[in-house]
Amino acid sequence: MNKTKRRDPWFLDDYTINPYSGCSFNCLYCYIRGSKYGTHMEEKLSVKTNAVALLEKQLSNRTKKGQYGIIVISSATDPYLQFEKEEQLTRQILEVVLQYKFPVHIITKSDLVVRDFDLLHRINERAIIPADLRDRLPYGTIITFSFSTVDDRIGQIFEPGATPPSRRLNTLEAALQDGFHSGVSLMPLLPYITDTGEHLEEMFRSFQHAGARYIFPATITLFGNGPADSKTLVLRAVAKHYPHLLEKYERFFTQSYEVPKYYRDAFYKKTRELSAKYGLKSSII
Ligand code: SF4
Repeated sequence: MNKTKRRDPWFLDDYTINPYSGCSFNCLYCYIRGSKYGTHMEEKLSVKTNAVALLEKQLSNRTKKGQYGIIVISSATDPYLQFEKEEQLTRQILEVVLQYKFPVHIITKSDLVVRDFDLLHRINERAIIPADLRDRLPYGTIITFSFSTVDDRIGQIFEPGATPPSRRLNTLEAALQDGFHSGVSLMPLLPYITDTGEHLEEMFRSFQHAGARYIFPATITLFGNGPADSKTLVLRAVAKHYPHLLEKYERFFTQSYEVPKYYRDAFYKKTRELSAKYGLKSSII
């Protein structure tokens, strides 16, 4: 478990835990890929087998000092990868978290989280919320689902290993119906593909229909020119599936890792309007 330097205003992370190193969901736009994990990230995936024993020690120490804080699981991978079905490492971690009464924020693209709703409910009831959030955050469990699209066809191209967006949406709805405080991390959006007015409307409407409590939209950043880097892989996918957009992508990303400021400004204006229109808050608290 890592202590963060400061709590992020969106994700509220005081601590982070990544049970796995690498990620088998293999999203083309993923910023953790590149030379470290390679083109097919599942080949370099490793399981932190001593995580539970280490966490017990850390949480015992933090508890003695009264250093309660929100633990984000996960910040640099997904806690519900395909391996988790057999490994059950995330589940074991949650059992320790429950024992020491720390609050959690689960961030995932997977429907496997449903398996742990029992534990997450108990954490929700028993967790000790950090003193400065106690009057604003009445939840010990937060579950955020990450989306870049709600279209399964687009998801298959850009996030081939993840639970298809339509099933993810059903899981978001299931979490909300089960009483969890749950919402959407809408990032990264793909220029001219998933950030068009029509696609944004469809997504916001779907999230509102599911009952999402909050939404965090963000534009894309793409790095590196190596064969396994996110910029290379996304541009290659655009060339193959959206050749008419390649010139625009090259204009944006050849000299930069992000979309231009005028584009970002228009994007945030549009998503603020949609959040207001569909009654979706821009923060967890
Ligand atoms: S799920 Fe997250 S960590 Fe995993 S490949 Fe996709 S963007 Fe990267």
